[in-house]
Amino acid sequence: MSADPDCLFCKIVAGEVPAEVVHATEGTVAFRDINPQAPLHVLVVPRTHAPNAAASAEVDPAQFAEIATAARAVATAEGYDDYRLVFNTGAGVGQTVFHTHCHVLAGRPLTWPPG
Ligand code: 5GP
Repeated sequence: MSADPDCLFCKIVAGEVPAEVVHATEGTVAFRDINPQAPLHVLVVPRTHAPNAAASAEVDPAQFAEIATAARAVATAEGYDDYRLVFNTGAGVGQTVFHTHCHVLAGRPLTWPPG
């Protein structure tokens, strides 16, 4: 489906819920996380609704690929060559919003393995 009327991130994409948008492409919108976990913490979302990364890759592979290039553009624009991309997939690993989103994190040491 292109949009889910009950989805928070669909509402942000549509401009119905305010967010600090930092980047937009034909297929994606990037906005600052409301509860940042690093100096740079932006969410890149596809404009087309899907519940997680794998579903987005199946529904629209080109739009899914756009997420990675948009994430790089966001990091570069904020002065970061190194950054971490995270797609939480499933409530068991912390996914709370079921519209595909890529966390772009940078600006502090990020440990590995993640917590
Ligand atoms: P998840 O836990 O699903 O991987 O990530 C969802 C993210 O969305 C969280 O980091 C959370 O802080 C962020 N978030 C939740 N509600 C809002 C909101 O209304 N606006 C923005 N900008 N971010 C939100």
